[in-house]
Amino acid sequence: MNEVVLRFEEVAKTYPGTPPVESLRGVDLEVRAGDMVAVVGPSGSGKTTLLNLAAGLDRPTGGSVLLGGERVETLSDRRLSGLRAHAIGIVFQRFFLLDHRTAAANVADGLLYRGVPPHRRRAAALEALERVGLAERAGRQARVLSGGERQRVAIARALVGRPALVLADEPTGNLDSATGDQILALLHGLNADGVTLLLITHDPHVAAACGRRVELRDGRVAERTADRA
Ligand code: ADP
Ligand code: MG
Repeated sequence: MNEVVLRFEEVAKTYPGTPPVESLRGVDLEVRAGDMVAVVGPSGSGKTTLLNLAAGLDRPTGGSVLLGGERVETLSDRRLSGLRAHAIGIVFQRFFLLDHRTAAANVADGLLYRGVPPHRRRAAALEALERVGLAERAGRQARVLSGGERQRVAIARALVGRPALVLADEPTGNLDSATGDQILALLHGLNADGVTLLLITHDPHVAAACGRRVELRDGRVAERTADRA
């Protein structure tokens, strides 16, 4: 059995308020090295909350999140940031690229918090751009790239530190369907090369392409495919 990269044990997340919002209510989930897992569910079902917890960007209010062998609840903010910088790559729905910087510089930024010297960051960025098929665009400013190319840059930035787990929130959500299909094919290829992926989507076509599918409804797992195919 492959190594566990992420495990949720009875994870709850309640946001304070009147009334409080129970965004997740007792979610169990396991992701092992080499998996490609889709989290699906309607708007408001808790998908982004789950992603934020999986990324170590937030902490559970109940249960336990095991990330890279560490229990997130037991870590100081500082150790959690360190773990996040080394173990996790995130692809955000809105890309969050700096428009006036080159593709290579945007990707190299993925290594900023890892203490990698600039020339090594640059070399790693070029390699990551190569992996997403964008080597020839490395010197272009992000603002002149197409939507699909921008998403490739965002994926390269998530990959550049060779994290144990890559998380993606609606990676095809802002793309037309042909471009979305290309991104999906790219993610598949990366997974075949050993990249572990957890992606959030409400596109059934994207979910069907993943090895496993977990469906959230009202903060609970409503349905899931078998843990391992
Ligand atoms: P999804 O991504 O599936 O649309 P979310 O995880 O964003 O769902 O949200 C789940 C529920 O938690 C929603 O009811 C949302 O309004 C609530 N929620 C999310 N983030 C916060 C927050 N920071 N404060 C209060 N409520 C929140
Ligand atoms: Mg969301």
